[in-house]
Amino acid sequence: MLLFVMTIRESIESAFADVPYPGDDNVTRCTHEDCLECDEIAAYFRGTTWRDHTLEQLREHHSAITMFTPEAFHYFLPAFMLQSLGHWREADMIPHFIAAQFSPAKPDADAVMQQYCAERWSIFSQRQRETIGAFLREYSAAGLHPWFSRDIDYVVSRLEAHEPA
Ligand SMILES: [Zn+2]
Repeated sequence: MLLFVMTIRESIESAFADVPYPGDDNVTRCTHEDCLECDEIAAYFRGTTWRDHTLEQLREHHSAITMFTPEAFHYFLPAFMLQSLGHWREADMIPHFIAAQFSPAKPDADAVMQQYCAERWSIFSQRQRETIGAFLREYSAAGLHPWFSRDIDYVVSRLEAHEPA
């Protein structure tokens, strides 16, 4: 069990090692103008690396997962995964927020939502997707939220399906 956790941790660290910092003015984006929540999230993450955050801090800022630009999501996702891994209870909703980012847009979603989902999907390499899939599989296996595991399993199979970027 411990060995398996170590392996996922190492594969996250190596799969995301070369992702560049998104840039100070490219941390959050939403459809609201002068959005205080985006400003607060951006101020918190700006100038930090994905190694600078505790699980408690990330849990406080977990809505960032939905407000990051695609580039910032790409860069900071390993922080959320590494801190949550094996600490599922303390991670609370973080794994669900991550899984939701890799669900396809609903057929009736508007153009903005379609583009949002497509961007979040295409920025990750196949190796990174497999790593995210392994992380979610481990979360699902922990059995904390069995009613959610079918959704997680669907997202995992999508991540592992080798769909072109
Ligand atoms: Zn906002």
